[in-house]
Amino acid sequence: MTELLYQTDSYLKDFIARITKVDLENNAIILDRTTFYPGGGGQPADSGTIKVNEVLMQVKRARKAGPDILHIIDGDFDAPVVGQAVIAQLDWEHRYQLMRTHTAMHILCGVIFRDYGASVTGGSMEPLAGRMDFEFETMRKELVQDIESAINIEVENARSLRVDILPRDEAFQIPDLIRTKINLLPEGISEVRVVEIEGLDLQADGGTHVNNTSEVGQIEITDYKSKGKINKRIYVRLVG
Ligand SMILES: [Zn+2]
Repeated sequence: MTELLYQTDSYLKDFIARITKVDLENNAIILDRTTFYPGGGGQPADSGTIKVNEVLMQVKRARKAGPDILHIIDGDFDAPVVGQAVIAQLDWEHRYQLMRTHTAMHILCGVIFRDYGASVTGGSMEPLAGRMDFEFETMRKELVQDIESAINIEVENARSLRVDILPRDEAFQIPDLIRTKINLLPEGISEVRVVEIEGLDLQADGGTHVNNTSEVGQIEITDYKSKGKINKRIYVRLVG
């Protein structure tokens, strides 16, 4: 089982860990702890490097496999020994861009729910760009400018983000979480990680975020599309 360091400190760029398994089938190394995000919730996986005995290996991406995080190695590698210590490092530029983008998405969700009562149904992102789907029947072209202004005001408002890991029962008491379909969480999950933009948005979320909305920089709405009468897709890009 891999300890997930990114869940409590999204700014951790490098760390020391120990090899717990070598997965030759997936060309992957498993560590006792990691800050590599394995992908999920619309956020792509991290990449980076792992150094063992002065040998530097490129981690193409991380991936979840049950309770473990696989660090998938680019190319052949001489299988290191279980128990060996490693120094691992994220591709920080890629990760930090994703943190800013992910927080931008939550600003968008928070503003659209607050101003129009529309719920998010899904989304995906790449560094500095993303799209989100809403149940937003009244969305129309004329609103694009209003929404763009409102989200940029929340960047300027420099709101703090807070991450908490709550017992499932406690999380289910929070009315804001119920609207973001927390009830879809699998039965077996006993704790819920909650990401809050103070005063704006609260979601059950496993991803990595910046500490303050001011770090996101300027957001542009680049496009929107109707995906049926009710479902609307909004595209954003970070320009700052
Ligand atoms: Zn999210």
